[in-house]
Amino acid sequence: MSAAQIITCPHCHRKNRIPAERSPQQGQCGACKQSLFNGQPLELSVQNFEAHLSADLPLLVDFWAPWCGPCRQFAPIFTQAATEMEPQVRLAKVDTEAQPQLATRFGIRSIPTLILFRQGQEVARLSGALPPAQFKQWVQQHL
Ligand SMILES: [Zn+2]
Repeated sequence: MSAAQIITCPHCHRKNRIPAERSPQQGQCGACKQSLFNGQPLELSVQNFEAHLSADLPLLVDFWAPWCGPCRQFAPIFTQAATEMEPQVRLAKVDTEAQPQLATRFGIRSIPTLILFRQGQEVARLSGALPPAQFKQWVQQHL
């Protein structure tokens, strides 16, 4: 395990270096002083995507759209997973309607699609929603 972890702030998107001996969950952003984890999926856009993709923390992204029924049904499961899985993984959402460039970049053909990134690389992809237990199992399996 490395001596420090780079964690991107979910509020101002600056990178923070968190020493291994400090609990990242209690960490505050050096720039905006807000909590580095708040148990909520973060909304990503073209502007802030890179800052989170390149952090040390695994990034799990839910590609969704407001008109998609299965996406809306899955939303509370995803939010609940954020409260349970932080600070092991960062959970984030991309609205494919508002962010078509990101949907194209990752070749999103159906929604919801979940992609897990580690060190900037895609390590797993899941198309379609899963029930809570299976979903968490899928994430753990690839962490
Ligand atoms: Zn901040």
